[in-house]
Amino acid sequence: MTKEGPALNGPTLDPADWNELRRDAHRMIDDMVDYMAQLRDQPVWQSTPEVIRESFREDLPTQPTALATVYDDFTDRILPYSSGNAHPAFMGYVQGGGNAAGMLAEMLASTINSNCGGRDHVALDVERQITHWTRQIFDFPATATGIFVTGTSIANFIALVVARTAALGVESRRAGIAANNQKLTAYASRAAHGCVQQAMELAGLGSDALRLIPTDADHRIDLDALRVAIAADRKEGARPFFLVGSAGTVDVGAIDDLAALSAIAKAEGLWFHIDGALGALAVLSPELKPRFKGIEAADSIAFDFHKWGQVPYDAGFILVRDGDVHRATFAAPTSYLKRETRGLAGGSPWPCDFGPDLSRSFRALKTWFTLKVHGADRIGAAIAKSCALAEYLKAKIEAEPRLELLAPLGLNIVCFRYRAADPNEVNGTIVAELQERGMSAPSTTTINGALAIRACLINHRTQQQDIDALVSGVLSIGAEVTQQR
Ligand SMILES: *Cc1c(COP(=O)(O)O)cnc(C)c1O
Repeated sequence: MTKEGPALNGPTLDPADWNELRRDAHRMIDDMVDYMAQLRDQPVWQSTPEVIRESFREDLPTQPTALATVYDDFTDRILPYSSGNAHPAFMGYVQGGGNAAGMLAEMLASTINSNCGGRDHVALDVERQITHWTRQIFDFPATATGIFVTGTSIANFIALVVARTAALGVESRRAGIAANNQKLTAYASRAAHGCVQQAMELAGLGSDALRLIPTDADHRIDLDALRVAIAADRKEGARPFFLVGSAGTVDVGAIDDLAALSAIAKAEGLWFHIDGALGALAVLSPELKPRFKGIEAADSIAFDFHKWGQVPYDAGFILVRDGDVHRATFAAPTSYLKRETRGLAGGSPWPCDFGPDLSRSFRALKTWFTLKVHGADRIGAAIAKSCALAEYLKAKIEAEPRLELLAPLGLNIVCFRYRAADPNEVNGTIVAELQERGMSAPSTTTINGALAIRACLINHRTQQQDIDALVSGVLSIGAEVTQQR
């Protein structure tokens, strides 16, 4: 055989010159530290110019480019056009700001490149360490199990599937839900996040079987309406099985009466799940914790370290009280996942026994760094500061006749508007202008048909001056817009 083939000791993908890599790496670290330190001097957001967008439609690169050149390209074409959620003036949606310790941990995690689906290696012990901390955070028992997932959308879905197994038995994994002749019904408030509905669709239960219960004046689930809906379903022969409490609704930050929901779930034999994506980590603040009473009694909690926990994206988490049913829902005996008592195939159970992912990144490391470097108390204090800033914004709105509040302040989200003859149009324009001028980035939501400017205070970098700038920006642009009409 003389045919030319790939050389057996050919090139690797490692750099030819490690010292050159070291120089490039130091430049990147220096630049990123400067970037983080000087975030406030940048516009919060700028639209990606068309020429830049165009430039991302090039053909597949078949030949090498120097790392330094690719990095220059990153600083020119990518870095300036982020969505801005790391910036102190970002108040749109529910997005965390990240933190420097987490940034560096991401580099370390990529260096060792762990696959956290299973096997016997220390990265899984780091993840188990975080699970232990989440049990402490939420006063859960030692038998509770948990894993990292992308975000609460998937965490809610996992909780629903585990609850389905609890209701129908492990046998339902094989037989499917069609083998069950009762309709399974679930309950959440109308203010619940849309991913709860999606979870019902994905789980094959259908979104029609999700009862969206009306909310009270404080945007919390109406408990009487909930009881009525459960009774009506039982009368129809359905089988109520899953109740979702919101620990911070996405629109206004309302916290359902979790203790009352827990009591209803217990009395009715329902799985009590909490969507804590936005608010659950507020229990790290001693002042805020009492408002989440009942969270410790949940069957499962879905939440995000990447929101108020300030861990860089993504770092969602699902915590399940009954570790046995959690494992029984996902564990699968296949030959390539065979467990041993020694060697790399030891250390069972593995994360892949608790969720649908097999290949998984080392999300635990950036979370471990964030919690270790700052300490849970300091993260709790940053969360309390967000709520104090929301109170401050609310007070400024109430003191300003040109502005009005549109929803009660539940936690950290302030919904308000500039008073005008055609308020929906004017306030939509104000928000777009604030964003496009790079001044401030609130978002919008609709409350009882009224378009609201929605400021979600969640970023640890946001300070009083950012609230002052938001209010003065709304007032000056509001005046501009209404005068043009
Ligand atoms: C953000 C959010 C979600 C979705 O979480 P992801 O991490 O984005 O998947 C679900 N529920 C609430 C209340 C949220 O704020």
